[in-house]
Amino acid sequence: MEAERATMNNVTLRGLVLAPYGRDAELLSDALTECGARPVVCRGLDGLLVELRSESADLLVISDDAFVGGGDDRLLAVLRDRTPDSDDILPLVLLTASTKLVHPLTSFPGVVVTAKPTRRRILGSILRGALDTRRRVLQLQEQRRKLAEQNRSLGLMTEELESRNLGLLDAMQAKDRFVSTMSHELRTPLNAVLSYADLLDLGIHGALNEQQSAYVERIVTSARHLLELIGDVLDAALLNAGELQVESGPLDLWAELGDVVALMAPEASAKGLHLTVQPPSEPLPPVSGDRLRVRQVLLNLVSNAIKFTDRGGVTIQLELNGGDTVSVIVRDTGSGIGPDELPRVFQDFYQVAGGLNRRHDGSGLGLAISKRLALLMGGELSVESELGQGSVFTFTLPLVPE
Ligand code: ADP
Repeated sequence: MEAERATMNNVTLRGLVLAPYGRDAELLSDALTECGARPVVCRGLDGLLVELRSESADLLVISDDAFVGGGDDRLLAVLRDRTPDSDDILPLVLLTASTKLVHPLTSFPGVVVTAKPTRRRILGSILRGALDTRRRVLQLQEQRRKLAEQNRSLGLMTEELESRNLGLLDAMQAKDRFVSTMSHELRTPLNAVLSYADLLDLGIHGALNEQQSAYVERIVTSARHLLELIGDVLDAALLNAGELQVESGPLDLWAELGDVVALMAPEASAKGLHLTVQPPSEPLPPVSGDRLRVRQVLLNLVSNAIKFTDRGGVTIQLELNGGDTVSVIVRDTGSGIGPDELPRVFQDFYQVAGGLNRRHDGSGLGLAISKRLALLMGGELSVESELGQGSVFTFTLPLVPE
């Protein structure tokens, strides 16, 4: 009710007047009307108390003549009951003929005491000030009510989000469990397929003719490809679940890079690309990392560089940074990646120009896994690229602490 009143523009405030004598009552009533308030005049304390209890009041104007026979303590009790909320200040203007102000009412918040007789002009400005105070109180109450409402709905939204979050977390964990179980389950029959293909290839139960050998080779290539894909899916699930462990043994990064380049060189030359490695300008101290995982990241970066380059080639450079990290920088002159796509290449399954029209093989998991592996080993993987100009991937690892 108070709040609604406060929202109304030009709200007419209600001033309760307690004045036993007609002359005072009339003077106060007129002064309130002039100030834009609606006066309600009571001649006795009982009437005022009934008014106070029954309807909202915005201002009390009291002539202390009303307390000649006592009773101010009753009014005080009602006022205290009425405003348990300390912010709901009801301004009170007390007109008194007494030079010594001993009324207990004077200790009430929002009281203005003025000596009688009060000049009309001064009375007007006192009343206007008291009414302004009340307006501000009502505005504050309204703001507080709105804030409380917003707080309540924010609380509800937070609860809702928290429960959705929990649901999503559950769903993600269930997905990761499913993926990792399925990956294990798929590996077993695939390994069996590879073993039987090997047996056929060895010719233990009879030699294969040329056509049959070619088919067996295709079976082996496809099964290996599938195994790689399953390995990636399993890695991603383990990384997501925070269950992938890495070692931090000392590694000779130059030697690892050499192996990876030797492995990828035939692919580069098949596409007519150069694959160049620039040796470091100074001997490299050992880096800290998991050998298999470091090779996995290097293989992914070099094979991507070859895969997405049609002309020119790939240059790999090793750099010792400021003494405590080493970077492998893989630079290609390939298709490059546009600024919109660049931040997304490290997301699971993301492929630039992916979808049904994509030109290249791949799961879109390689970079996502590589990035997380790099972080897990205390390093970093970053990319800079320009569409049509090529890409630069920088894989950084920490040196083994001395
Ligand atoms: P995949 O190679 O299996 O598709 P990756 O996670 O390794 O998955 O790479 C994600 C995507 O990032 C690739 O599909 C490709 O669109 C883009 N990309 C990665 N490396 C390069 C590169 N050297 N040049 C251009 N695009 C690249």
